[in-house]
Amino acid sequence: MRLKDKVAVVTGGASGIGRETALLFAREGAHVVVADVSEEAGREVVTAIGRDGGYAAFVRADVSRAADCESMITTAETAFGKLDILFNNAGIMDGADADAVETEEAIWDRTMAINLKGVFFGCKYGIPALRRNGGGAVINTASFVAVVGAATPQLAYTASKGGVLAMTRELAVIHAREGIRVNALCPGPLRTELLMNYLDTEEKRQRRLVHVPMGRFGEAEEMARAALFLASDESSYMTGASFLVDGGLTSAYVTPEG
Ligand code: NAD
Repeated sequence: MRLKDKVAVVTGGASGIGRETALLFAREGAHVVVADVSEEAGREVVTAIGRDGGYAAFVRADVSRAADCESMITTAETAFGKLDILFNNAGIMDGADADAVETEEAIWDRTMAINLKGVFFGCKYGIPALRRNGGGAVINTASFVAVVGAATPQLAYTASKGGVLAMTRELAVIHAREGIRVNALCPGPLRTELLMNYLDTEEKRQRRLVHVPMGRFGEAEEMARAALFLASDESSYMTGASFLVDGGLTSAYVTPEG
């Protein structure tokens, strides 16, 4: 087991990457706090972990609210005694997020509040707990769009993920000597609810796949395995990294299909 007796908080743990990661972390021996706004689906993940003989707890937390983030960290320490791993993964991509001209201010603000401020709040309350633990690992979910511009405009989302990546680097530098490693997971386009709701026609999906050398969407489980590596001691000399898991997207000028 690669995370034996570790305690992890996974935000956005009810669905997609977060769900698969919570399940995988638990299978690898971690005690997992599943934090999400989606209560029913989040509790279902906890039940599934319990059924497999693992340990998990659900906390309803909106990561854009400071008090909720504080309580998800407190839950980890009270329920399981400590915090070793903080996976700041919750995020949204609003269907009305578009280019600079079309995007409404309210969409910009909501996207920033969840995707960017949510990571800040996770760290604000999570880092003191990691210090109390004598160190640990933080993983922030950014995106490939933090590295290259997206062909489908989603300006608020892209800017929020750029912020997550920049914040990750600074956090890594500041906390390196406290034994706290901070890395960003940068997924490519995935076949999760978040993206499939956004790319809601076959034409839009094919348009996106033009850019992926592998010619397919990634799976949430493939991100969970990357998160496991970043969370475990196997990545002990990695901090401040942008860990791209994107089917080759950011390396491509043209794909094999041209
Ligand atoms: P998903 O929609 O399947 O899961 C996201 C989860 O976050 C949901 O359970 C949702 O309820 C939760 N959530 C939303 N707002 C929240 C809030 N305010 N507080 C707490 N939880 C909240 O999406 P996913 O694809 O698993 O996305 C996970 C992360 O990966 C996001 O940060 C997303 O931006 C990023 N990402 C996704 C893709 C992709 O193609 N799907 C690509 C790159 C990055």
